[in-house]
Amino acid sequence: MEDYYDILGVSKNASKEDVKKAYRKLAHKHHPDKGGDEAKFKKVNEAYQVLSNDKKREQYDMFGKAGPSSGFGGFSGGGGFSSSDFGFDVGDIFEEMFGFGNRSGRSSRRRSGEDIKIDISIPLSKVMTGEERTVSILKFVPCKACSSSGVAKGYSKKRCPQCGGSGRVTKTVMGMISTSTVCPSCKGEGEVPEKNCPSCKGEGRVKEKETIQFSVPAGISSGQTIRISGKGNVGVRGSEPGDLLVEVTVEKHNFFTPRGEDLYCSVDISYTDAVLGGSINFSLLTGKNIALKIPAGTFPGKIIRLSGKGLPRLSGYGQGDLYVQVNINVPKKLTKKQKLLLENLRKEGI
Ligand SMILES: [Zn+2]
Ligand SMILES: [Zn+2]
Repeated sequence: MEDYYDILGVSKNASKEDVKKAYRKLAHKHHPDKGGDEAKFKKVNEAYQVLSNDKKREQYDMFGKAGPSSGFGGFSGGGGFSSSDFGFDVGDIFEEMFGFGNRSGRSSRRRSGEDIKIDISIPLSKVMTGEERTVSILKFVPCKACSSSGVAKGYSKKRCPQCGGSGRVTKTVMGMISTSTVCPSCKGEGEVPEKNCPSCKGEGRVKEKETIQFSVPAGISSGQTIRISGKGNVGVRGSEPGDLLVEVTVEKHNFFTPRGEDLYCSVDISYTDAVLGGSINFSLLTGKNIALKIPAGTFPGKIIRLSGKGLPRLSGYGQGDLYVQVNINVPKKLTKKQKLLLENLRKEGI
């Protein structure tokens, strides 16, 4: 028989964490549902049952697989072991691996309302100031007819027939490992309506349009998500609601391009302004006009930085900068007079 340490590919003094890591990797690799080898999968599980348990690992190290003479059998039984046989819970690993259970995992928090994801787009000018937004979404809201209880008028609740009132059911994976998960019928409550409320069919919630107001903070950028806690779907029969997740896209602006908290733009100036200096006017995102001074001797492509004229930081402290690239307009058509003046300039050597 193979050594348990060899099966998991860990050393004799591997830490518990190493054992767990190695097990996870191999269990994924050999998982029969993913086309793996079932025999290998069983071996990996068997090795993990022992090496992850301090007492069993100690016994195994001392006596090998056969165990002490008193016998700690059970490993040769071939199939059909449950977590309780091993005195440890494989539930956490299996919930993680195969997505059993509810999202909050093993917490006792009763939460069955789903998150809702929506997308909004905002103009760049609103990134500058922040914005109050109102959206109308179709979502699960509490059923008024039964006050979220899911119970029809004149009836009460009874013990859940699926889980017998425990709120959890045992699931068997590939006929080998049993893991306990939240009862799908009562969602962990242990009881269900005697007769379902006709408005919500016992769910305690109905779909309705709801108007939700929230603030988009100044300084937000494309791809960021605003989480509005508790504004997702309400849960079944009064259990906790999910969140509303708002993914923001910042609309393209025809003059400014944001990069983080900084803004970039480019302006065209005349050849004479570049040589002699001048100024150029444009509007900032706030609507305020600015007269940007062009120093004499500005070369094409020069970038002028305007400190603190960028976007506000999401943290609420300070602002980015504005970078203005200066391009020089080279005229294609000249009047006779302009041409003559330029010819004279050429004679002057510039
Ligand atoms: Zn149940
Ligand atoms: Zn109802």
